[in-house]
Amino acid sequence: MENDYLSNLLGQIKNPEMKNVLQMMIEQQKQKAKNASRFPAITKEKAINDVKQCLEKIKGLREDVIQLNGRLHEMLDLQATIASALGACNCYGLNPFCDNCYGSGKPGTKPLNEEAFNTFVYPLIQKLSENIPEDPLKEFRIENPQNKNQPPPANS
Ligand SMILES: [Zn+2]
Repeated sequence: MENDYLSNLLGQIKNPEMKNVLQMMIEQQKQKAKNASRFPAITKEKAINDVKQCLEKIKGLREDVIQLNGRLHEMLDLQATIASALGACNCYGLNPFCDNCYGSGKPGTKPLNEEAFNTFVYPLIQKLSENIPEDPLKEFRIENPQNKNQPPPANS
């Protein structure tokens, strides 16, 4: 609207210097209008609403981070307990840069945590043992009267 007025005025001015100044003003107005359309006006209410929404999202993310951090610590504790059940370093000897073992802490290289062993390892050994005959070499034992003619085991 202001541009129409200035354009109309431009037609009436004869002085070339004044015309140039007015022409520059018209260009400035056009540029201003172009920038305004690129950045639409925002109301105070919309700005407040946007900030509230951002704060809600941040609050939700913060709660997620706290929950994940708690879960991470639970997993790290469990991981350390299982490593102790195997008599291994927490890195299981897989990390040559480990500050505790320099990669030498594979299972069986540290004292066992008996409680952890009984919780996590022993049940597996029991389960695997169910399918193994009680004593596969029983028939070769010397004290077995049925097999007195069998040769004794090499190591006795
Ligand atoms: Zn280690």
